[in-house]
Amino acid sequence: MKVRLWRGGLLLGERGKALPLTQPVNDLLGLRDEWDYAVQLDSNYGSFWPDEWMDLPADFDSTGLTDHDLADEARAAQIDRIADEIRELRRRKLPDTFLAACKQAEQGHFSVTLAGFLEQITRRPGDEPDEVPEADLPTLATWALDQALRQRPVEVRECPLCKRPWLASPEQPSPYCDRPYPGRSMSCRALKKDEHFRESQRDWRREYKRLHERRKRGTLSEADWQAWRADNNPDDWYAFDEWQRRRIPVTTATETGRGLGD
Ligand SMILES: [Zn+2]
Repeated sequence: MKVRLWRGGLLLGERGKALPLTQPVNDLLGLRDEWDYAVQLDSNYGSFWPDEWMDLPADFDSTGLTDHDLADEARAAQIDRIADEIRELRRRKLPDTFLAACKQAEQGHFSVTLAGFLEQITRRPGDEPDEVPEADLPTLATWALDQALRQRPVEVRECPLCKRPWLASPEQPSPYCDRPYPGRSMSCRALKKDEHFRESQRDWRREYKRLHERRKRGTLSEADWQAWRADNNPDDWYAFDEWQRRRIPVTTATETGRGLGD
């Protein structure tokens, strides 16, 4: 299967989707024997997985199934086959092999333990894409690691959510990985963002209620209440005191009196 660099990422096959360059490495480092993980690998690498993996068993009873149902069954068959592949890669301890190789990569070295995979890559000079064997995730990851090392420094981080190591560029701000969180289809990074978002929304509602109460009791002026509401919204807001500090730096002494007299 053809593989090439594309806008700093990798492009697999003729019409595959662009992936971050370190994606196959990280997918290997975090490899878990879980359905959602196999689903993720299916969607990340698409046509990298052989068409035969979608074949339904010869004795499969398709009576009464629509084409749509059959397509679902075929996809499920492929995901099952990817799950088998995950178990095989884990049995061969490839997550450990790649972690050791990534630690060497941090120092700018390409580990000799990946030589066997390196040999599987067909290099094409110039603008021609290189080639890696179909469904061979370790070889694809080896190609990607080799390319990544030429692009920028890399560092191994431990994801605070799934606790698995992943390979990042130093400029990547997130400590969270992009792989599915255990037992979920959402990635650790997306989950964290979502959690942060929900926390922020909850805090917003609390602050809104608090200020609304103060307004009713008369300890907050109508003008301040309206001004705070105009400046703040659930997606982007400051608590009242912080908002005031940012707005008018030196009026805190009169603030309470002004509110009470309102
Ligand atoms: Zn993670």
